[in-house]
Amino acid sequence: MDIILLGPPGAGKGTQAQRLEQRHGMQQLSTGDMLRGAVKAGTPIGLKAKAVMDRGELVSDEIVSELIDAELTAMGADTGAIFDGYPRTAAQARSLDEILARHGRSLDHVIELVVDEDALVERITGRFTCANCGAGYHDTFKQPAQSGVCDECGATEFKRRPDDNEETVRTRMVEYRAKTAPILPIYEERGIVNRVDGMASIDEVTEAIDAVLG
Ligand code: AMP
Repeated sequence: MDIILLGPPGAGKGTQAQRLEQRHGMQQLSTGDMLRGAVKAGTPIGLKAKAVMDRGELVSDEIVSELIDAELTAMGADTGAIFDGYPRTAAQARSLDEILARHGRSLDHVIELVVDEDALVERITGRFTCANCGAGYHDTFKQPAQSGVCDECGATEFKRRPDDNEETVRTRMVEYRAKTAPILPIYEERGIVNRVDGMASIDEVTEAIDAVLG
């Protein structure tokens, strides 16, 4: 089963994708994670993408579609894909159709996480992750049980994304509204869009997504 998680930055796509991986043996394909990996590794793509990402704008369609194509090639045909943060433009949506067809795959569901945009800035600017295992935390909503120590692995180093500051978040929201939200009708026409309340608790959102996947 291949699905898209769609929603503005901070809607919870990454959190839910990680849970789907654990519960259903699917694989998260996050273009944001791939690009951050490229930036960290200093690859040509990373060098090109860094400034664009720091501004909260969108990296070129060609780059992200190539990244997705390569990941699908590396992935087993039997493993379901969770597209997280891709597609983000109409051109990417068209590319995804072509790429999936080439890999003999097709989309089963598009899950739109519906959220109150005013809450997103607080959600995003407060988030941080364990530098060792990637477990997610939040200044207000989810501090580690013991301050400064990761609940999952005991590490004491944490990190924040450089683009999780208020100014960049506002640009990312504008990009979402202008370029990503308009791709929903493409999937609505196919009858594969399901709306889930992204303001519910993390567990409730997971349950609602599980109900869609059946
Ligand atoms: P994300 O982790 O999904 O919030 O993505 C972080 C940043 O990476 C975005 O603000 C964009 O600059 C870039 N990015 C991630 N995915 C895409 C995509 N599908 N198309 C264009 N840019 C992307």
